[in-house]
Amino acid sequence: MRRRVSSRRQTVSEQALDNKTYRLESIRCGKEKCKCARGKLHGPYWYSYTRVKDRVISQYVGKSLPKDVEKKIKNQGER
Ligand SMILES: [Zn+2]
Repeated sequence: MRRRVSSRRQTVSEQALDNKTYRLESIRCGKEKCKCARGKLHGPYWYSYTRVKDRVISQYVGKSLPKDVEKKIKNQGER
């Protein structure tokens, strides 16, 4: 079986922070006549993925990461 989600999302960037993974993704909405069907994908937008026990909860973040998250990732990288 094909995974619909993975074929409609392209990960541009990925950042891990604490128990979350932030991913910058370009999205294909699936509409036949949309610009994304011709390769012009939507976004990219940030999503956060949080692992809770054996589940992963995804959450829409937006066009850019919140300032405090960006800061934490930066500090993490410098460690
Ligand atoms: Zn579209």
